Amino acid sequence: PILSRFTQIEVDHGEGPYLYTTDGRRYLDFSTGIGVTNTGHCHPRVVAAAQAQVGKLIHGQANVVYHKPVLQLIEELQRILPPHLDSFFFTNSGAEAIEAALKLSRHATGRTNTVVFQGGYHGRTIGSVSLTTSNPIYHYRYQPLMPGVYVAPFPNAYYYGWSEDETESFCLKQLRHLLASQTAPEETAAMFIEPVLGEGGYVVPTPGFLAGVQEICNEHSILLIVDEVQSGFGRTGKWFAYQHFGVEPDIIVMAKGLASGFPLSGIAARSELMQHSPVGSQGGTYGGNAVSCAAAVATLQVLEEEGLIENSARMGAKLMERLKALQDQYPAIGNVRGLGLMVGVEFTSAAGDPDAAAAKAVIKECLDRKLILLSCGTYGNVIRWIAPLVISDSHLDEALDIFADALEAVAA
Ligand code: PMP
Repeated sequence: PILSRFTQIEVDHGEGPYLYTTDGRRYLDFSTGIGVTNTGHCHPRVVAAAQAQVGKLIHGQANVVYHKPVLQLIEELQRILPPHLDSFFFTNSGAEAIEAALKLSRHATGRTNTVVFQGGYHGRTIGSVSLTTSNPIYHYRYQPLMPGVYVAPFPNAYYYGWSEDETESFCLKQLRHLLASQTAPEETAAMFIEPVLGEGGYVVPTPGFLAGVQEICNEHSILLIVDEVQSGFGRTGKWFAYQHFGVEPDIIVMAKGLASGFPLSGIAARSELMQHSPVGSQGGTYGGNAVSCAAAVATLQVLEEEGLIENSARMGAKLMERLKALQDQYPAIGNVRGLGLMVGVEFTSAAGDPDAAAAKAVIKECLDRKLILLSCGTYGNVIRWIAPLVISDSHLDEALDIFADALEAVAA
């Protein structure tokens, strides 16, 4: 009873973009297990790598031994990450990796406070949920939370109803104001930001915002930590979403798409930062599990060798074009935005207020037509498109035709 549920579907197996139910129905899965199965369900190369590893070594505990898959994974990650992020720590879930980044930021700076951005989602453990501001349910009757967290506005131009320029300068001014009024820079360890807001509504920041945040961080030696848990591994048409914005983060937090569904997460940071953490201050029994790491190595190779990141950019552009055409046709769609295959469709009433009922009704009509889509956003009025990166034009057409039919059914 404590889990919210999007569907009641009972699944037997998955293949590529499809899920097959125990009673033989086939669904087009554009939820990808909430942004996890970027390579599609059960990609043969990921399956083979995991199967082979299970027969060799399942658990090679990180405090006790090194194993080959973790060493291979580090090599693969070093190929795709900027050279200054040369040190890694692996965990099992996104929230744990956020905790690791939080702890590291305090160790490395000797400072206590953290700045986060309105609408961000970083997890549900006490530390990570204290950084989360996308919905009060995560805090409800669970307070007091971890102190020392300060919230700055995220540049959501549609929400403010302003131009991108106005929104960006307002938000950067507010960020400076926060440092002047509430958390002194000398006490501020880090700023955590999702380069594209995920659970908070699939919001792309204004073009210069992240660079502005970095500038402020640099002025005060505050660490810039990007949470790429949902936006990483090709989701936005680049390896990581921060790469769209010309910034160089101090720490990257990764999970979800890293291992195609095996529990694996981690942080990448400059080794000079990690040197500040006392030996033994971070750890965990299962972090960097051998089977998960083997699956991650295969995942990164598949993303690269099968051109899935380029496919994400190409399919995303087509998706945005078709969704914008639907926006012209259906006034319930207030806004369409996204990068690559991380696209949000926001539903608003005639008065311009968030319309969660419309989003919910469209999702239900899609589900009846065997397309799984999820909602997000503080008001639950955004439909998020997180298709697997393996989709072809025909999968996208199939989904968009269903979506158009669903809009028509709800409008009727
Ligand atoms: N950060 C972001 C951006 C996320 O989207 C999520 C999960 N939705 C998390 C952190 C937490 O990850 P997990 O659920 O694996 O703890």
